[in-house]
Amino acid sequence: MADTDKAGVAIQGEQEVVSRNFIEQMIDKDLEEGVYDCVHTRFPPEPNGYLHIGHAKSILLNYGLAQKYGGKFNMRFDDTNPTKEKTEFVESIKRDIKWLGADWEDRLFFASDYFEQMYACAVKLIRKGKAYVSDLSADEIREYRGTLTEPGREDPGSGRSVEENLDLFEKMKNGVFEDGSKVLRARIDMASPNINMRDPVIYRVAHMSHHNTGDQWCIYPMYDFAHPIEDALEGITHSICTLEFEDHRPLYDWVVRELEYPHPPRQIEFAKLYLTNVVTGKRYIKKLVEEGIVDGWDDPRLVSIAALRRRGFTPESIRRFVELCGVSKSNSSVDYAMLEYCIREDLKLTRPRMMAVLDPVKLIIDNYPEGETELLEVANNLENEALGTRMVPFGRELYIERDDFMEEPPRKYFRMFPGNEVRLMNAYFVTCTGCVKDETGRITEVHCTYDPQTKCGSGFTGRKVKGTIHWVPAGEAVRAQVRLYENIIDETKGVYNEDGSLNLNPDSLKVMHDCLLEPALGNAKAEDRFQFVRQGFFSVDYKDSREGAPVFNRIVSLKSSYVLPKQEGKK
Ligand code: ATP
Ligand code: MG
Repeated sequence: MADTDKAGVAIQGEQEVVSRNFIEQMIDKDLEEGVYDCVHTRFPPEPNGYLHIGHAKSILLNYGLAQKYGGKFNMRFDDTNPTKEKTEFVESIKRDIKWLGADWEDRLFFASDYFEQMYACAVKLIRKGKAYVSDLSADEIREYRGTLTEPGREDPGSGRSVEENLDLFEKMKNGVFEDGSKVLRARIDMASPNINMRDPVIYRVAHMSHHNTGDQWCIYPMYDFAHPIEDALEGITHSICTLEFEDHRPLYDWVVRELEYPHPPRQIEFAKLYLTNVVTGKRYIKKLVEEGIVDGWDDPRLVSIAALRRRGFTPESIRRFVELCGVSKSNSSVDYAMLEYCIREDLKLTRPRMMAVLDPVKLIIDNYPEGETELLEVANNLENEALGTRMVPFGRELYIERDDFMEEPPRKYFRMFPGNEVRLMNAYFVTCTGCVKDETGRITEVHCTYDPQTKCGSGFTGRKVKGTIHWVPAGEAVRAQVRLYENIIDETKGVYNEDGSLNLNPDSLKVMHDCLLEPALGNAKAEDRFQFVRQGFFSVDYKDSREGAPVFNRIVSLKSSYVLPKQEGKK
């Protein structure tokens, strides 16, 4: 977090001055100098996987800039490589971006819709003597390319005439050549210190079906050629991308200059977002999915946007997180705890605090009249009155957490043990009288007596107790499955093992089958979120929940030692 490029809030006298991040400063300058008269950004994913938290940063950055400057935001699928692209991914990407709150309105584009124009662009370069057909294989091209210290060698094909190149390129298009037998290269500079400029391949032969254009084409443009054309065709002013494309910028600028586009975009690079102990790369997530280590792209342990959503994160929490991360020019990792901080902050005051017993043991109040029940009025959130109250049934038989009772407690244990008095949350004081065990020694019932005078809300001040424990009524409780998560990577040992495999945490998923929840939770709908007192924030799983058999995912526990880093730039 320690860099100076990101937005900060500086207090000068009485006035709060919001400083601009480095991208905004560049845009301000462009607008001031009249280089562009508007701001037009885009998000250009390749539909070869689901989006992840890193993409969320890019989406919100690009969409946010368009919003801030009253400009436009394009959604564009960069689908120029048919090998890995799928319609499933196109659909998931659209769904995730909408859920995040970015809106492309009617500005949805596909790079594959420009194949005709890209072909014409390649022909234009050939006519200008700026591209030629090569017979070299991929290995030979690599060999001819030279190294960082040695210049490359001329391709034998580079001497071909314009006519010959036009003829060969058309034959490439017409399917005369096999995959890999011919490519089209841009003629730039085989001695350039930037290897990307050493006559890069711009078109290749690939007899493959494309998810959008089917079998219409058997040649496909390379990313470095297609991308700047896509931006230029759409009138993108600021083409914002991650740092690894910095070295490609001279090539992009060359392409749009040679093709004589009147208003070429300005490319601005920023550092990718990485999280500690979390797998962000699409390649790694894909591996976990394909090897069946996780339950699909939306497994709640992943940080794909679909997974975060399924886990229970809100779009607001992700937007807040991205805002706190800022934008920077240097790569660094952000603590996953910051994401957790953001969701806690979002849910703390906005969600009801319910009672749920994850590992239940029966509690019997021996002096409570048999067969009788009462309804207790309980505040939904003591810190937010607007959330109102609910009624919770209370009776002689309840369930409490198994670890809220100990027959022989250690020092400083203030919960239930024989002879000790505690408060049952929202209800009465009870004094523990003992327990019953089965033949294996497992505790099956805890017994206690209650004091009717101590009802919560009655104003009783006679004495105090040190422990408060939560409970659910035995008859009316709702049975549910609850899933608890830990990081999928074992934090203590680093991300990779010595053999390069991922260092997986064997305890990343814990399934609790017979949890008992207070009755109101029986009506919870998919994606509803709650606080379970003392346990954390939970969300109803939309994939595995069934009518009458809800499944809850723990989004995050309640406790955190995380301290929000001081905002850089504060004076
Ligand atoms: P990955 O590295 O996870 O495979 P990618 O870069 O191949 O992702 P694309 O679909 O090509 O995925 O990316 C779309 C956009 O999202 C690009 O502009 C890319 O720079 C940006 N992006 C990808 N990963 C991150 C990240 N971790 N942080 C910020 N932006 C990212
Ligand atoms: Mg990519």
